[in-house]
Amino acid sequence: MTTSNTMLAALTEIVGAQNIISEPNQMASYVEEPRRLYNILPSLIVTPTCVEDVQKIMRWAHANNVSVVPQGGNTGLVGGQVSMDSQEIILSLKKLKAVRDVDPATNVMIVEAGTTVLEAQEIAENENRLFPLSLGSEGSCQIGGILSTNAGGTAVLAYGNSRDLCMGVEAVLADGSLYNGLSKLRKDNTGYDLKDLLVGAEGTLGIITAASLKMFPRPTTFETALLNIEDPAAGVKVLEMVRRKSGNKVTSFEILPTLGIDLQLKHGLAERDPRSGSSPWHILVEFSLFDGEDAGALTDTLEALFEEGLISDATLCNSLADRKMMWLMRENFAECQTREADGIKHDISVPVRDIPELIERCDKAAEKAVPGIRTFAFGHMGDGNIHYDFLAPIGMPKGEIRTHANAVHEAIYEIVDDLNGSISAEHGIGQMKAPLLQQKKDPVALNMMYAIKNALDPKGILNPGKVLVKRN
Ligand code: FAD
Repeated sequence: MTTSNTMLAALTEIVGAQNIISEPNQMASYVEEPRRLYNILPSLIVTPTCVEDVQKIMRWAHANNVSVVPQGGNTGLVGGQVSMDSQEIILSLKKLKAVRDVDPATNVMIVEAGTTVLEAQEIAENENRLFPLSLGSEGSCQIGGILSTNAGGTAVLAYGNSRDLCMGVEAVLADGSLYNGLSKLRKDNTGYDLKDLLVGAEGTLGIITAASLKMFPRPTTFETALLNIEDPAAGVKVLEMVRRKSGNKVTSFEILPTLGIDLQLKHGLAERDPRSGSSPWHILVEFSLFDGEDAGALTDTLEALFEEGLISDATLCNSLADRKMMWLMRENFAECQTREADGIKHDISVPVRDIPELIERCDKAAEKAVPGIRTFAFGHMGDGNIHYDFLAPIGMPKGEIRTHANAVHEAIYEIVDDLNGSISAEHGIGQMKAPLLQQKKDPVALNMMYAIKNALDPKGILNPGKVLVKRN
């Protein structure tokens, strides 16, 4: 086993003392993850400044059997980016930020892994283009991180998830070799798609150091509204009609329980109530219009929805400030839960048609497991992805809901199975769901995954225990 002192000396030689953190009291921003569930300190944190140094670190780690946890913005929600063992090192990509190429003719940019999503959006904007990935953590999460988790967000309906936005990656493999797959080609059928192996691998197959990303035409106008619907079944019908009437103009379609807005008002997260009238459920819908397209597409669609009796009221955003306020309200759906009570969370998906059945059955199952539990199901309805959260019953002592977590998880995942859904729609597996994956994934698929892992990382030093539990 390599001692901490030997590690420190070897890594200092590679990256210099200024790019190493070895004092536990300086590690907080790398080890405290958003859900505060994991707290094992690594032996060291290393922050290389160039790809060559990432290669040197991996060559050294490979030779010395040291496990490496790649880390981006540390916003992951399943503990993939933090240590499971105190002998590991965390390798942060945050200093790899070069913009290698911006090519508006091909609609592609090539940026290094530590570029944040917000910075990638700005690079595209400077070329009058759009990098459409949009998520609450965009100011902090990095290109390497969103690709490694295949992150989704609020524009998947129109543009796809991170995988769909990526044309190629560059990655350092477990032995330190460099895979250069920074393609700018929309057509390239030359064998296995290695990019798609690395995207979504959560740092278990390679360390992404750069990526070529698609850019899109920039919308000239956004039309945004908060709709009142009676129940999720109406939401499915609204989605069908919105798509039929607007074609590909609809870029976001989020379902929100009214409780989330009540809680934001209660906890001072919202300046004013954005709702018109009252209703148990809402849809936040957004259309993107481009040069030459007439404004008013959303208003026309709303009229048709009223006529069909599918919505009872709506708030249309009349300004950019209104739109900003509406999306802030959407982002605060996580924070208002934290302020209200402890909870139990799930990130699941089912075919869109089955969302009403999912919600009805999950609510009943959770109520049976914990009488009085408060349902808080919201999210990317257009993609079939629901963040199925539950809040502790009013008056339950702090912490007690955790003792019911397994019973609630079991009930929810059984229903998800029954509806041919997924136990992780967009947050990934990390360490949190690795044991669950063993139960739920098709055994042949699991064997293929282990075979790929063993082929690319035979010593098992890249993010061990994440996604795949260690097999003896
Ligand atoms: P990290 O958290 O640092 O790492 C995540 C995983 O990727 C880890 O397994 C890590 O080892 C690996 N990794 C990181 N960088 C690399 C690299 N360069 N090479 C190889 N492996 C690497 N997710 C969604 O999909 N949709 C949402 O709408 C969404 N909203 C969010 C809102 C908030 C407020 C927060 C806190 C999180 C949200 N997430 C969402 C979670 C989401 O997974 C992350 O925000 C993002 O994808 C992770 O990026 P990161 O750079 O922070 O990666």
